Amino acid sequence: MSELSMSAMGDVGAVFHRPDKSLIKVGSAPLQEMLRHRQVSQTEPEAGGVLLGRLIECTWDVVVDEVTAPGHRDRRWRHGFFRSRGRAQRRIREAWIESQQTRNYLGEWHTHPQDHPVPSKVDLADWARIVAKSRFEQDSLIFLIVGRKSVEAWELHKGGILPFRLIPGWD
Ligand SMILES: [Zn+2]
Repeated sequence: MSELSMSAMGDVGAVFHRPDKSLIKVGSAPLQEMLRHRQVSQTEPEAGGVLLGRLIECTWDVVVDEVTAPGHRDRRWRHGFFRSRGRAQRRIREAWIESQQTRNYLGEWHTHPQDHPVPSKVDLADWARIVAKSRFEQDSLIFLIVGRKSVEAWELHKGGILPFRLIPGWD
C-alpha cells in the first residue's frame, strides 16, 4: 500500500495479491480498527490481534471481515507484542458459530513503529510456530504488519518456514 493511499485507504479497505493473482482483501472496518493502533507517537506500544473472515469458495481469495483489538492481558512493548491466548480464542470460536461456520481464523496482525514494516526474527519464528500449532482448514495463514506509512502482508503455508510477501494493490 503506497503512502499516498494511506489517508484514504481506511474508507475502502485494502487489497493484496499473490503471484497467481488471487486476492487477499481487507474490509474497511477491520482496516480502520488496525490503523487506529498505528504507532505514530514516540511511545505508543505495539498492538495486535487475530484476523477473521471468509475463504471464498472455488477461488483462493480470502476476505478479512474482522480483527480483534488488543486486550488487557496482552503484553505490549514499543518493540514487541505478545497476544494472550484466551480472549482471541473465545472470539474465534464465537465468530465461527455466529456466522454458521463462515467466519474463519485467517491469521494475525500487529503493529510496528516502522514506516514500512518488515517482520523481525521474532515475528518469523512466531509465525512458523503459529502455523505449525494452530488449527485451521486452509493451506496457509496471513500475517499483516501495520506500519506508520504502510500496511504489509505475508503468507505462510503449512509446513513452510519462510513467509512470502503479498503484493499490495489490485493487480
Ligand atoms: Zn513484529
